[in-house]
Amino acid sequence: MMDCIFCKIIKGDIPSSKVYENEYVYAFRDINPQAPVHILVVPKEHISSVDEITAENSAIVAKIFEAIPEIAKSEKLSGGYRVISNCGADACQSVKHLHFHILGGAQLGEQMG
Ligand code: 5GP
Ligand code: ZN
Repeated sequence: MMDCIFCKIIKGDIPSSKVYENEYVYAFRDINPQAPVHILVVPKEHISSVDEITAENSAIVAKIFEAIPEIAKSEKLSGGYRVISNCGADACQSVKHLHFHILGGAQLGEQMG
């Protein structure tokens, strides 16, 4: 996707603070962190949101969730962390490339919405 900011980050056309990468998955620090640790985990393949996950492309979700505990370990999030994916306008999704926020490094609030 030519106009997608996360596709450009994955390609290296826009710099990012990378924390993890494999054949399928890329993870980097959020530019506007909302917790001491705030990482975005994205598929290298462009998928717009959770709403675009199908039987054909859902294997990437497993790849992402295999990466998340590895990232959490390397970030020393032994006390726990939160994983969030905003999907669509009501959830305030601002970047239309599937991503999962990892938030941690402090006691998080009970409210999620
Ligand atoms: P959303 O609101 O779509 O769930 O999350 C998008 C996230 O991407 C936001 O937390 C925002 O700070 C982050 N973000 C937007 N543009 C950039 C960027 O160019 N670099 C990085 N590292 N994060 C970005
Ligand atoms: Zn993209």
